[in-house]
Amino acid sequence: MLKKIDHVGVAVKSIEQVKQMYKEIFGLDPEFEETVEEQKVKAVGFRIGESNIEFLEPTSEDSPIAKYLEKRGEGLHHIALSVNDITAVLQSMKERGLRLIDEEPKTGAEGKKIAFVHPKSVNGILLELSQE
Ligand code: ZN
Repeated sequence: MLKKIDHVGVAVKSIEQVKQMYKEIFGLDPEFEETVEEQKVKAVGFRIGESNIEFLEPTSEDSPIAKYLEKRGEGLHHIALSVNDITAVLQSMKERGLRLIDEEPKTGAEGKKIAFVHPKSVNGILLELSQE
C-alpha cells in the first residue's frame, strides 16, 4: 500500500533563498517549480535519490503556509507518503475514525493526487498521501 516517502515538505519565507543555497552548496537545480493555486503556495522540489525535498512559500496571507510561518516560523511542515490507491487509503482511515483534512483527493504539485491527514490522528506530524 505504501511505496516510499515521496517528499518532505518544508515551510519557508523565500524559495529564492533556498534555490540559491541548494545551488551553491549542493550544486543542485530544482526538479520542479510551480505555483499551486488551490493551496496558495509556490513550491520548489529537489530530487534526492527516490524522494524529493519540497519547499513551500505562501502566495497569499490566507495560505495555510502563511499561517504556519506566523505561528512557528520556518520548518518541517509535512511528510508525504506515496500510495498506490489514495481513495482506498482515505476510506480505510475514515473507517478507523482518523481525522482527515481532505476527505477527497485534490491536485497537488506535479499534478499528483494528494490528501492531508490531521497531525492529531497520526502521531503529531501532518501527513500527506500522494498518488502519481
Ligand atoms: Zn507535499
